[in-house]
Amino acid sequence: MRVGIGYDVHRFEEGKKLMLGGIEIPFEKGLKGHSDGDVLIHALIDAILGAAGLGDIGEHFPDTDMAYKEVDSKILLKRVLELVSEHYVVNNVDCIVVTERPKLSPYKDRIRTSLAELLGVSKERVNVKAKTEEGLGFTGREEGIKAYAVVLLEERY
Ligand code: MG
Repeated sequence: MRVGIGYDVHRFEEGKKLMLGGIEIPFEKGLKGHSDGDVLIHALIDAILGAAGLGDIGEHFPDTDMAYKEVDSKILLKRVLELVSEHYVVNNVDCIVVTERPKLSPYKDRIRTSLAELLGVSKERVNVKAKTEEGLGFTGREEGIKAYAVVLLEERY
């Protein structure tokens, strides 16, 4: 078994779709980024890369590379899974999305389903938590969203 942790932050941007865990969440703003700004998938990618000992998302998909401009983060996740799948399977994932708004409780289950599908695991192996920071800090000021992810990879025998 190998554990990995991931963390990411994106700033809100007007006029963009809000993508979290591969699904669009209805909201008045999206997340700024070289890609589609899916902060949760980025944290998850870093957790997988970390567990596999393969560095971080910036090494694999540099934001200076125009190939990744506006890229769907689901595609990046698929690539990372291809990279690790020769040696590992995903045992389970836990993650936290921190934002004041939008309220994510109505979407947690859909995000969970989406991540489970992307990872090719059953839904009970994926857990999604949504938190606010009670008005404190940059999430409290509604300037952006942060996400944490932990992944356990199991070596194939
Ligand atoms: Mg990111």
